[in-house]
Amino acid sequence: MKNYFFTLLLFTFFATNTFAQQQKYYRVQLLTNEKGLQRLLASGVTIDHGDFKKGLSFTSDFSENELSIIKHSGIPYKVLIEDVSAYYVSRNNTADQTDETVNEAAQAGCSTYPTPKNFKPGSMGGYYTYAEMLVVLDSMAAKFPKLITVKQLVSNTLTTAQGRPLYYVKISDHPNQDENEPKILYTALHHAREPESLSQLIFYMWYLLEGYKADPSVKNLVDSTEMFFIPCVNPDGYIYNQTTNPNGGGLWRKNRRVNGDGTYGVDLNRNYGYKWGYDNIGSSNYPGDDTYRGPSAFSEPETQMLRDFCNSHPFYFALNNHTYSNVLIYPFGYKANTYAPTADSLIFRQDATRLAQCNNFLIGTAIQTVGYTANGDSDDWMYAEQSTKSKIYALTPETGSAIDGFWPKQKRILPIAKLNMDMNLTAAQFTKQSVLAKIASGNSISNAVAAGNQSAISILSNAPNPCSNYTYVSFKVNQSVNCNSLKLDLFDAAGAHIKTIQLNNTGTKVMVNTADLHAGIYYYTLSDGRSKSAVAKLVVIK
Ligand SMILES: [Zn+2]
Repeated sequence: MKNYFFTLLLFTFFATNTFAQQQKYYRVQLLTNEKGLQRLLASGVTIDHGDFKKGLSFTSDFSENELSIIKHSGIPYKVLIEDVSAYYVSRNNTADQTDETVNEAAQAGCSTYPTPKNFKPGSMGGYYTYAEMLVVLDSMAAKFPKLITVKQLVSNTLTTAQGRPLYYVKISDHPNQDENEPKILYTALHHAREPESLSQLIFYMWYLLEGYKADPSVKNLVDSTEMFFIPCVNPDGYIYNQTTNPNGGGLWRKNRRVNGDGTYGVDLNRNYGYKWGYDNIGSSNYPGDDTYRGPSAFSEPETQMLRDFCNSHPFYFALNNHTYSNVLIYPFGYKANTYAPTADSLIFRQDATRLAQCNNFLIGTAIQTVGYTANGDSDDWMYAEQSTKSKIYALTPETGSAIDGFWPKQKRILPIAKLNMDMNLTAAQFTKQSVLAKIASGNSISNAVAAGNQSAISILSNAPNPCSNYTYVSFKVNQSVNCNSLKLDLFDAAGAHIKTIQLNNTGTKVMVNTADLHAGIYYYTLSDGRSKSAVAKLVVIK
């Protein structure tokens, strides 16, 4: 009896201890404008994923700690749901199958996507447990060994605080070779409580693998790019949620670093090294906060692994997937209250406009879309770090509606995944075209083409094409063009400049000698030093 009692005590102690960290989360509507939100951001309240009504309110799920800060701030608020984790689980169990109105009507010209045969839901309210995710990756490699690698270590030396590796897989033709094709990175689960970011990625991966044989456009993308996937950036946090809430609804966000003051975790999406700790707005220096940025830039093994991986793989494009808000965010995010452009803001805007064409996401920098700012996020670093690597066009999709929240109903998993398909495919398409992007001297191809369209010089055709010893390039110039400086710049398929040919005439056609070129694909532009044509393709055969 005594022993039994002791065991019971011990059990109670451990049970209490294990869950001592687990906080209750509330769905709260903050009835305030951007000024009020900035004030809360500065006091460590997490304001990034949620339902933002400009000038009026912001609704999201807040921890007990955050609710107490909100109470003390004097900012008006309404608690909409008392225990939001329980709510997420219970709404999966109700017979209520009516669909909430969500913003996902198929747009004109957008495809609908069938569910891949192999895509099956997980056991955690429809979402994958960590172990289930690994099984899915293994199953992809077993079924499609010619298109996807077996799961690989992101780092050979580093693991998370709890000793887990991060895994990546690569989808491409000849996935086990480095074919020097343009590369794209897709990540999910920087934040542990955003499981749909993973589900939609798994859907997309199956779609590529199964579509390779049947759909020439999928084959073309897979053949001409290397797509890298890190489907779970934060395994410790993710496993914590599945441990505390095995049926879903866990709302832990950070990793599980032991901070040493009784609190746990660093917000991995505040721990990257560009403008890390720029200010305390949206990035907290208090370890207990959900947006704690860590003791130093790249203090966390997870972000170190991502950093090293980006430094050793020349990614052109990256989608860092989060949930929710139905927005697509691009850099910069670090400057509080201010729109901070990058040198490539026009390109980001153009690309994001196309990426969001079918899912209708609101596009812009963080301050333009969700009204928050945060330093130390993945996109700012991936784009702005240009000494250890080239810039990466990195964007953050925040998938899912305000009703979906962090744990969308199980029956919403597929519609949300399908809504993202065009964006995921288009990002790969941009990556495929990045060879052309290099040619346009650091501009994206869309920008170069746009410039060409407005330009005073347009290329009409070149023939013969393919050619062997020569070809004629036809073009049109308007009066503003300086014909004496008209030149043709030739680039190889990797974007390297081959030669400049001075045209020096006012005709509409010029012969280009290709006898000295190897067989292969080339690109060229025409310019007069001020205006430049769009990029055109030239195939040389021998
Ligand atoms: Zn997130």
